[in-house]
Amino acid sequence: MSLLEISELRTGYGALPVLQGISFAVEEGQTAVMFGLNGAGKTTTVNAIAGLLPTWSGEIRLDGKVVSGLEPPKVVAAGIGLSPEGRRVFPALSVLTNLRLGAWTRKSDGKKATDETIERVFGYFPRLEERKDQLAGTMSGGEQQMLAIGRAVMSRPRVLLIDEASLGLSPKLAQTVFQVVSQINDDGTTVVIVEQNVGVLPYADQALIMEKGTITYDGLGSDLEKSGDLRKTYLGETSGDTT
Ligand code: ATP
Repeated sequence: MSLLEISELRTGYGALPVLQGISFAVEEGQTAVMFGLNGAGKTTTVNAIAGLLPTWSGEIRLDGKVVSGLEPPKVVAAGIGLSPEGRRVFPALSVLTNLRLGAWTRKSDGKKATDETIERVFGYFPRLEERKDQLAGTMSGGEQQMLAIGRAVMSRPRVLLIDEASLGLSPKLAQTVFQVVSQINDDGTTVVIVEQNVGVLPYADQALIMEKGTITYDGLGSDLEKSGDLRKTYLGETSGDTT
């Protein structure tokens, strides 16, 4: 059984369907990367998994248990954490308070457990520790991205969803973020990451490509990375374009 299973998922906005009945599964311990052009439905997919959009039909299962239909806090408590598109941190609150809020579904685990997870996040992103008392809204885009991911890690998810990890970051900073995500994955968290930057491919066990609300490729990240033809067909790369 896969850790995360999406079957025949349909959802959209109002009467507008976006996801046309998509199915895919992610194995425990893996990193899956979802590519696709703007408007393909990637954000819709991760938001639906996180419970932010209603499931019209189909099912989302975590470790065999149905999580579609649960309210977002219940989805977080079940073990799915989301770092949303656009680094939605709480701008008027400090870095530390943002992180503490990320652990609110874990309140019953106690302060010691929360403090340990904060230390873990600071280990991943030392910059957040340096800036722990700074208001989140005054940090750079890259730092806010780190905070958004760190806040999602605070719920100690089994599956971490990251929407657009590298958007607006310099290539160097994007690589740093990918490396940290890979470390989070090595520490036992299954990762689903939405990306438009193929620089993430070396970290992808699984690659998914989405077009117009359907999954058009679901295969090994290494196959996509190696095959110029696949990249050209699915990612619209022209030859010689490897970035
Ligand atoms: P991007 O990289 O631009 O975020 P995406 O692949 O994540 O692209 P989605 O944001 O999931 O794509 O959008 C899929 C479709 O749903 C698009 O046609 C978009 O216009 C539409 N859509 C997204 N959000 C809403 C909304 N709140 N209300 C109505 N339609 C929406």
